Amino acid sequence: MNRPATPLTFSGNFTQQEAIPEDAITAAVAVMQGGRLHRYNVASAEEISETAALEMEYAKYQDQRFCLACASGGYAIQLALRASGIEPGDPVLTNGFTLSPVPGAIQAVGGKPVLVETTSDLVIDLEHLEQVIKSSGSKLLLLSHMRGHLVDMDALCKLLDAHNVVMIEDCAHTMGASFNGVKSGAHGAMACFSSQTYKHINSGEGGLLTSNNEEMMARAIVLSGSYMLFERHEAAPGADAFQTLKLETPNCSGRMDNLRAAILRPQLQKLDDNGIRWNQRYDAFANALKENSNAIELPARHPDAYEVPSSIQFRIPHFTDEQNQQFLETCATRGVDIKWFGAEEPKAYTSRYDSWKYLEPTSLPKTDEILKRLYDCRLPLTFSVEDCALIGRIVAEVTQTINAD
Ligand SMILES: *Cc1c(COP(=O)(O)O)cnc(C)c1O
Repeated sequence: MNRPATPLTFSGNFTQQEAIPEDAITAAVAVMQGGRLHRYNVASAEEISETAALEMEYAKYQDQRFCLACASGGYAIQLALRASGIEPGDPVLTNGFTLSPVPGAIQAVGGKPVLVETTSDLVIDLEHLEQVIKSSGSKLLLLSHMRGHLVDMDALCKLLDAHNVVMIEDCAHTMGASFNGVKSGAHGAMACFSSQTYKHINSGEGGLLTSNNEEMMARAIVLSGSYMLFERHEAAPGADAFQTLKLETPNCSGRMDNLRAAILRPQLQKLDDNGIRWNQRYDAFANALKENSNAIELPARHPDAYEVPSSIQFRIPHFTDEQNQQFLETCATRGVDIKWFGAEEPKAYTSRYDSWKYLEPTSLPKTDEILKRLYDCRLPLTFSVEDCALIGRIVAEVTQTINAD
């Protein structure tokens, strides 16, 4: 390879998301002018609040009967776990490779996280899952579609059915994705989404919970802090479903407000287009890696999966510890912000499962081996397709330079 005289560099900001669209800003201003920011504060019985409207639109988007908007993605997971009837000390299966709010939500509701191995394609290891279903006796899987990678959902559902395991899906990274034409989040009993700034729609903080299950959704609505105003929900079960639940279910206040809902509704209209834009950026980055280095491995996508890659992951398996360090440092000096999942010490948003010290110590040798040389890079939509090709080329060049040394 001809090495350019001056090394290529990049100067973009990896944490800069796009501006909130103008129509969303207009909708937010209208909510503020009206003063009715609380979701149950309506001017008349006929008025549907922005939050209730968002829930209707998102239920339709997901092709699910019910939707509840709430305070955050992590909170949506807590609601789903509670709605599933979890008891203190119940084992809950989940991915060893995920973000800390996932085991955190299990811990928050008194469950006991049981971690499952990851494959080199960064999806849950179905063989290991079956083993731990048997060894733990758990009847609940909180599946995290970490970094948007979809496992073979048909094989997974078959396995879970065979063992009577209920699934809750953490779709923080798969909003807009689908498997075999079925929206991600429509396979489990409930699905949890996030509208935190770095996810696929942005209200700073926020969560969405979807389901077709009447009882679970009624329970989640009361848990979220509906008081006796659950009839102001539109994408919700009828009043009958609440009759006994409403008195037996605690109010664990964590609602969404109309301001956030107002800025999310117009973004929902753009979600599918943005999915295409993210794929273009991913492809440009991935192609630049493939064209300029043969040492970098990308996770394979299941042929039936449509993913929305708002970030890219790749492995450089043969790097020594020293080369790994050199790689991270050189990328940084070239302006490329690479996260490493293998670090001993948790850093910023990234932590390895063995740093969650509130869990019983678990050993996941396969996951360790993968995370050890797994790198991650955000692809914000403020980057052009050309930017992403350039970043990919820089990463590949740095890799080749280190290999040659
Ligand atoms: C962000 C995230 C969450 C939690 O979402 P918040 O809205 O930040 O609480 C859960 N799971 C994964 C994989 C995430 O990335």
